[in-house]
Amino acid sequence: MEFDSRKYQRLRESMVKNQIEARGITDPSVLSAMRRVPRHMFVSEALMDQAYADHPLPIGEQQTISQPYIVAHMTQALQVDSEDRVLEIGTGSGYQAAVLAEIVYRVYTIEKKRNLYIRARKIFDQLKYMNVVTSYSDGTMGWREESPFDAILVTAGAPEVPKTLVNQLAMGGRMVIPVGNSFSQELIKLYRDEKGIHQTRLGGCRFVKLVGEHGWGEE
Ligand code: SAH
Repeated sequence: MEFDSRKYQRLRESMVKNQIEARGITDPSVLSAMRRVPRHMFVSEALMDQAYADHPLPIGEQQTISQPYIVAHMTQALQVDSEDRVLEIGTGSGYQAAVLAEIVYRVYTIEKKRNLYIRARKIFDQLKYMNVVTSYSDGTMGWREESPFDAILVTAGAPEVPKTLVNQLAMGGRMVIPVGNSFSQELIKLYRDEKGIHQTRLGGCRFVKLVGEHGWGEE
């Protein structure tokens, strides 16, 4: 791959070892996906050398690509496998969707900012992620025509869990979503079975706002 130099491969390997394995991520499919996706391709050229560092980075439009560990943590929490159809809300740079695309059957990802949507679509095509389907719309409404989903991942902070999304979860489906105020949130995991919806807490986090019909209002 001409876009993936030895330098970036080395940085990526040490990212997985020192930031992800070292902090307890063990799912082999998550670790190998993080070893494969060229994260530097999802940021602007000026930031490529920082792409494998232990923090989020700006991607324009006041949005950020999440810290590598957070991506690994959320992906592991979703418990996805090669047959799953997964919905992501908040395409952003496209990096999280690409990590999921390495593992699952198909990823449906929604972005409400046009420039980010266009840029992410281009990079999915360039890197040949044929199993990523993109939409330019308000993700808090979900994607009814393609529902139900085996897993739903929200990568922006919500004031509460949108019911529209819970309703699009398949039986046995999992959802991971940051819920809280605009400064800090808690990562919540929901699981649907015959008895109903079960919730567990996965710890604190900080995401940009989920803005939409069933999220925060526009500023
Ligand atoms: N998953 C991304 C990071 C997401 S940052 C990555 O890997 O880079 C959060 C993204 O959610 C931003 O791009 C923001 O524009 C988007 N967003 C916020 N509210 C949204 C909504 N209602 N529907 C779809 N996207 C939304």
